[in-house]
Amino acid sequence: MTSSTSLYFHIPFCVHRCAYCDFNTYAGQEAMIPAYVDALCQEVRVVSERLLTTESPKRLTVGTIFFGGGTPSLLSPSQFDSVFRAIRAGFTVTADAEITMEANPGACSFDDLLALRSLGINRISFGAQSANAEELRMLERAHDFFDVIEAVASARKAGFENVNLDLIYGLPEQALQTWQTSVKRVLDLHPEHISAYALTLEHGTPFGRWAAKGLLPLPDPDLAAEMYEWTSEALESAGYGQYEISNWAKLIKDETVGGNSSFNIHPSPFACRHNLQYWRSLPYLAFGAGAHGYAFGYRYSNLLRIKTYIERLAHPQDDHPVDSSRALPLSPAVVNHHKQTLQDDMSEFMMTGLRLTREGVSADEFQSRFGAPLREVYEKEIEELLKLQLVEWRESSFPSGNEASLRLRLTPRARLLANQVFMKFI
Ligand code: SF4
Repeated sequence: MTSSTSLYFHIPFCVHRCAYCDFNTYAGQEAMIPAYVDALCQEVRVVSERLLTTESPKRLTVGTIFFGGGTPSLLSPSQFDSVFRAIRAGFTVTADAEITMEANPGACSFDDLLALRSLGINRISFGAQSANAEELRMLERAHDFFDVIEAVASARKAGFENVNLDLIYGLPEQALQTWQTSVKRVLDLHPEHISAYALTLEHGTPFGRWAAKGLLPLPDPDLAAEMYEWTSEALESAGYGQYEISNWAKLIKDETVGGNSSFNIHPSPFACRHNLQYWRSLPYLAFGAGAHGYAFGYRYSNLLRIKTYIERLAHPQDDHPVDSSRALPLSPAVVNHHKQTLQDDMSEFMMTGLRLTREGVSADEFQSRFGAPLREVYEKEIEELLKLQLVEWRESSFPSGNEASLRLRLTPRARLLANQVFMKFI
């Protein structure tokens, strides 16, 4: 593991399940929150203790923590306090750690936000999704846009200086104009970070079923592409730098977007460091029902159901690591763990790295991780993609001060065809 790792906590509770959502989350189970928080703390204790029994026992340093869901804001500040105590007892959290909590607008009081901020949460991500009342109703969201305005104002007052707003485009019957209005209204709130995702119709969700029956009048792909391109331009003109296919972060003064010879990788200090850890194929530990992790060359996932998760963590002594020398799997809640092959790691490194629209994949980094030159390992794939003008080589110095290195990244037009590019590396 590198010197700094990340922790992901899954909070699988929602007041209502939105019609498009396929996350591992459950409505009407809030009575189990106290027991779930106890189980999370237990999981943190077990994992941190097992890490000390590995071949090279080490107290891990944590640079980012992310509470995702579900609806993490359904936990009270005192429940977060318990989780933080467990984290700090088992890990060394850096002084400048990025600590994010996802929250539903309208579901967090100012007092809660103030308490959460004082516990160390320094980044908050609100699922705004749209500024249009009909679209929010259709998505079955419990909030309206006034809740978003209030949530951002309360977060500011509580001291949050790093706020993300999530948006979804390509909604049923969505017109370009209503989408543009949503983006503009979100920009009026001056968040440090904006994520804009295309609606995906997931199998097993009401949206997926309705679409299969032809009951969901979705915008055609050309219109969805137009929405994406317009968004990219609008956000860049408003001072946000795109750093990932669906993510933009506010630029700080004097920085410029894009550029040729002065290709600047780091668009902003507000780029989400936790997600960068995923996209750079760096390690993260997962806690909670249905959480996924990547550590010691393994990808793993926890069992899905809340009740079973709580029960499993109530008797951690019944579980024995399969590989005692490395304490794997790390948690009694793990149900799948898979040793990555070199091929898995190289392929994922390419697919997640190419999501980073400015940074892309470094040829030097590839060589030092895998002991083989990127140009040779993927010679045929890269050649084909270069011919199709879907990727390009760029030279840049990263980390700053180092010699310039070659990086492979998506061309702007490939951002809409990214899955086609990623398929080449599977
Ligand atoms: S609030 Fe978020 S996590 Fe919960 S059901 Fe809706 S989309 Fe899914």
